[in-house]
Amino acid sequence: MMFSIIHALCDIVYPRLCAVCGNWVGAGGQTLCWDCRTRLHWITPPFCRCCGDPAEGVATHAFECGFCKRSPPAFDCARSLLRYAGVCGTLIQKFKYANACWTAAEMVQWLETGARLHFPVAQIDGVMAVPLSARKQRERTYNQSHLLASGLSRRLRIPYSDGLRRCRYTISQTHLNMMARRRNVRGAFTVRIPEWVLGRRILVIDDVMTTGATLNECARILRLAGATGVYALSVARG
Ligand SMILES: [Zn+2]
Ligand SMILES: [Zn+2]
Repeated sequence: MMFSIIHALCDIVYPRLCAVCGNWVGAGGQTLCWDCRTRLHWITPPFCRCCGDPAEGVATHAFECGFCKRSPPAFDCARSLLRYAGVCGTLIQKFKYANACWTAAEMVQWLETGARLHFPVAQIDGVMAVPLSARKQRERTYNQSHLLASGLSRRLRIPYSDGLRRCRYTISQTHLNMMARRRNVRGAFTVRIPEWVLGRRILVIDDVMTTGATLNECARILRLAGATGVYALSVARG
């Protein structure tokens, strides 16, 4: 009750502004104004049952995309919530590069809904984040995936562990194709504490999944360390 009153007073004194367009967010909103919110492109079926890559048209049954058939990923299942374009793209850019850490709270709520919808949450033992290299972490001062994963772990009441470490710097993947991306990230991660992984099912969180090469490599390392299941969830799909 007291929290709600303080919240309402703060909204009057410091009206919240949309993280994307700067307009007033309005009552009940958190991060985006109503107009920006309606322009989010949520990912809906059909999508690959393994990597979650959205497909055009109508599917009458569950299917795997061509890439998952040719090169099965190390994760059991990956899902993304939004298309990385327009409003979502701007939101993630501000979250990642412009210190808009306050936007994480609402994205965590979206992730919780997605995790409960797509994964057997009751069977998951731990939540982890895709780690940044030490250099990037120093430059950015925070790891956006860590903010999402730790927030999600609190909402799901599943322990968060800082279990993955990036052990080498990797070049930008922007201009690489799928197989080149897998080669680029191979050996980029290690498991910090094997006991946190052995015999456990892990949910790995990233802000954006493009080809899935990074999440695939995290899953491969977790599997090698004895994880019995790996699920991957991202806010956006590039
Ligand atoms: Zn807006
Ligand atoms: Zn696929």
